[in-house]
This record gives sequence, structure tokens and C-alpha cells, in this order.
Amino acid sequence: MYLNYLHWVEKSIYIYKKLIPPCGVYVLDVKNKWDVIIVGAGPAGSAAGYMLAKKGFNVLILERGRQPGYKELFGGRVYAEPLREIYGNDLEKAPIHRWVKREKLSFVDGSKLVSIEYQSDTSTSFTTYLPQLARWMADKAGEAGALLVEEVTVDRIIYKDGKVIGVGSGSDEVYADLVIDAEGVNRLLLEGLGLVVKLQPEQVAVGAKETIKLGEDKINERFGLNKEEGMAWLLMGGITDYIPGGAFIYTNKDSVSIGLVLHLGHAIKEVKDHISQMVEKLRLHPQLRNLWIDGDIMEYGGHLTPEAGPAMMPKKLALNGFLITGDAGGLLLNVGYTIRGVDFAAYTGYLAAKAAIEAHDKGGFTEQNLKAYESMLKNSFVYKDLTRLTGMQDLYNDPGMFKALPKLAVGTAANVFEIDLETPGVWNSFNKARRNAGLGLLSLAWKGYRLMKKM
Ligand SMILES: Cc1cc2nc3c(=O)[nH]c(=O)nc-3n(C[C@H](O)[C@H](O)[C@H](O)COP(=O)(O)OP(=O)(O)OC[C@H]3O[C@@H](n4cnc5c(N)ncnc54)[C@H](O)[C@@H]3O)c2cc1C
Repeated sequence: MYLNYLHWVEKSIYIYKKLIPPCGVYVLDVKNKWDVIIVGAGPAGSAAGYMLAKKGFNVLILERGRQPGYKELFGGRVYAEPLREIYGNDLEKAPIHRWVKREKLSFVDGSKLVSIEYQSDTSTSFTTYLPQLARWMADKAGEAGALLVEEVTVDRIIYKDGKVIGVGSGSDEVYADLVIDAEGVNRLLLEGLGLVVKLQPEQVAVGAKETIKLGEDKINERFGLNKEEGMAWLLMGGITDYIPGGAFIYTNKDSVSIGLVLHLGHAIKEVKDHISQMVEKLRLHPQLRNLWIDGDIMEYGGHLTPEAGPAMMPKKLALNGFLITGDAGGLLLNVGYTIRGVDFAAYTGYLAAKAAIEAHDKGGFTEQNLKAYESMLKNSFVYKDLTRLTGMQDLYNDPGMFKALPKLAVGTAANVFEIDLETPGVWNSFNKARRNAGLGLLSLAWKGYRLMKKM
């Protein structure tokens, strides 16, 4: 009954917004005080909204996109376990395309590549389209009782007398006992509050992606997959013109997502082509193009992603009446062989909700009570991973890694396998490639040691 009412309210707001521009936070006409307002219906916001609404809080989620997921972009793979902790068995009903049972990592130099492949009959992650997953997660929050209002851009957090009391959009304001910021990486609201400085190029990577429709059977055949089995494939080296970052290929149900992630600090200085041309080069790479040669490009897009881990976390994640989750908090892990954004965002949204519930039981959403969120986070796998696996940052600061290592791997393989008359030994092939890549034995050992230790 309540749900129906909420849907009716949402429909009325939608019609009202269409009839009477300019749009703002029209919920003011229905109700302008909520228990919790969440900014952003991405994985972080929707997970928090779901947990809090399930506990009986009046939750309003404000999303600037026409639908959840419309303003988001990701590569393609999500780790399931953190989401299972939030949604239990309901996760099986999520828009899961394929369970990843093949992992591939390739070093690319020119037209050649060397790959390491892992095959398994079990899986802990799945591929999906983020707009579909974000819609599903927002609907779960809606079913639990949260009200989602789309096409509303929050342009400020209202801070008064030492606490956050609501949000504003244009001339409209709406109030809550608690505001959760789940606005994603482009955290303009946090900047407005003075909690973070403007994003620095060294803190983020820029991603660009294409989705190519191919058909289920062709994907299975060309990637060697059984029905519902997926592949996650990451590539580094020449595929990004040796700029720190990498390329990705994920198999969805009947399409393939391909794209690049480039560390922005380096990309600004080193990119020669437009990033869309770099994605085109990936699509046309001689060793890859036959995989999707007769496919149709369905969509393309670009987005930033946080890369600096704890170094870009706001000093505080909890203030009086305020919590920060997901990418907005810099809570994403990229270790080169995998990227964990969606599951980290959802899990931190879930922790924020748990902390909010505890704070409420203790008497209110004061900073003191909400601080439990920071300790929950510090004790969780998210923060532990972020502080432990800092190798990518080191790698970025040692761009030689993105050139020398792929050249070494591909060069060694070329020397070993491309035989003219004499059959080369592996050690000689390796040494020849190492010299060509400009790597001394000692510096290589040091790089390898650091890499292994940090990752
Ligand atoms: C190229 C690329 C590849 C990636 N690949 C992967 C991958 O394979 N696996 C993985 O797990 N992660 C991946 N990620 C990271 C992942 O997409 C993010 O970590 C995740 O989406 C973060 O979730 P979030 O809810 O914190 O933020 P977002 O998903 O960015 O959601 C924020 C939401 O807030 C809304 N919003 C923002 N500002 C406002 C405002 N002022 N008012 C109202 N609404 C607002 C936005 O429209 C958006 O819907 C990738 C990212 C990129 C860029």
C-alpha cells in the first residue's frame, strides 16, 4: 500500500516536473522533511537506500540522470560476495550476464601480445551492464520503501549551525536528519562543502569504452566459452601507447565491452591521439579485431575513475548529519589485474547505512555517533585492500613499468617462438629482450620485487 503510494507520488512528481519547468526538488510540494536523503542512485546510494528503507527510515534518493545508471560508465565485471551480503539470494535475480570463469592478462607490444590465462569451473564475479545493475539496485531500494526521484541535480549540501540539514537544487530545498553523499567520483558537492579540493589529474584515470553487439553464439565460439561463462581480459603496454593504465575486454551475454583506462596525470602529457582513436586502435588491433569483426557498436562513452586510494579520501567520512560513500570517498581499488569499484561502492553504502542505523539507536546522527562508519570501514576488506594494495600508485610513478615489462614479455616470447635456423635458449631470449627493453638485471629484479610486494 505504502509502496503504491510512493509510486503514485513519484509519478505525480514526474508529471508535475514535465508540466511546470524549471525543474528542481519538487518533492517539496509533497513532503520536505525526510529521515535520510541520498544524493546519487549509483551502487553506493542505492545500497544505502535499500538498507535504510528496509529498516523503516523515510528515504529519498535524488538522481540527476533520467534513470539510475544513465550517467555512469564502467568496464564490465562485478565481484558478487559483497553484493550477496547486502541482497542475499535476491542477487541471483540481478541482471547478471555471465559468470567470469576465464581471466586473461596480456602484455602488448606493437602487433604482438603475450597472455597469461586462468580457467576455472567456479566463479566469484559476473559481467553486467552498469545501467541495468544500477536500475535493479535502485528498484530494490524502491521496493523496500525508498522514493527515487530522477532528473534532479543537487547543487548544494545545506550546512547550518555545525551540521548538515538538507540539500538544495536551484531555489528549492529539502531537509533531512541525515544526508548521504553518493555522488560518485566527480564530487562537486564535497568540494562545495570544503571537504575535498578540486580533483587533481594524479588522483584519477579517464576511461573510454565501446560496447559491441555480437550475439551469444559468436561470443562463446570466439572466446572459447560455454553458455553463461564469461571472460575478463586486461591488457597493458602498447595497447595504451605505453601510457600508465590498461585496456579491458569483458564478455556480456550477447555483446563485448572493450575500452581503456588511462592515468590522467600521464595522459594529459603523453596522449598523442584522441582517446576515442585509441579505443578504435584497440578495436582494430591485429590480434583482437577478428574477435568482433562483424559486430555492431551499440554505444560508447567516457568517465573518470578514482585511482589514488586513501590519498584521495576526504579527511572525514562522517560529519554531523552527513556520510560519504563509494567513489565520492575515493573508495575504489585498481590493481591492474582487476578493478573493484561497484562492489566497493555498494559495500561502503551498506556500511554507511549500518552505521546510520546504529547512530539512530544511540540517539541521533551526530558526528560522534556516525563515526562508527569510519571504524567499520577501517575494519572492512575495502579499507584493508586500499591500504595494502598500493602497487598501482607506485606503478604509475614508474611509467617504465608500462613500457619495459610488456616489451620484455613480448620480446622474450618472440625470441623463443620465432625460430629461423638456430633454436634459441630461453635464458638467451630473455636477456636479449631485456637489453632491448633497456632493463638492467638489477633494476629488473628490483622492479619485480617491488611489484610483487605491493600487489
Ligand atoms: C572506464 C571504467 C571502467 C570501470 N570498470 C569497472 C569494473 O569493471 N568493475 C567495477 O567494479 N568497477 C569499475 N569501474 C568503477 C565503477 O564504475 C565505480 O566505482 C562505481 O560505479 C561507483 O559507484 P558510486 O555509486 O560510488 O558512483 P557512481 O556509479 O558514479 O554513481 C553516482 C550517481 O550519482 C549521481 N549524481 C552525481 N552527482 C549528483 C548530483 N549532484 N545530484 C544528483 N545525482 C548526482 C550520478 O548521476 C550517478 O548516478 C569502472 C569505472 C570506469 C570509469
